[in-house]
Amino acid sequence: MTQNHELCKGCGYCILQCPKDALSLSSTVNRKGYNVVDLDQEKCILCAICYTVCPDSVFERVEA
Ligand code: SF4
Ligand code: SF4
Repeated sequence: MTQNHELCKGCGYCILQCPKDALSLSSTVNRKGYNVVDLDQEKCILCAICYTVCPDSVFERVEA
């Protein structure tokens, strides 16, 4: 998964839904002033749930 951090609003929906606990709110703030979400690639199983639940299209699926 790749992320466009500038679209993130820090709502946390993706963090709650990730089955592998791969997402967390980071201390990095984007240009809109929202804390963005960190993705731990080691934990990620590419289930794309985050991609489905994010209302702001932050995640993009990349072919392995
Ligand atoms: S693709 Fe699945 S495992 Fe990976 S960060 Fe998104 S919800 Fe979590
Ligand atoms: S669901 Fe989308 S906008 Fe909300 S915290 Fe996750 S990446 Fe950011």
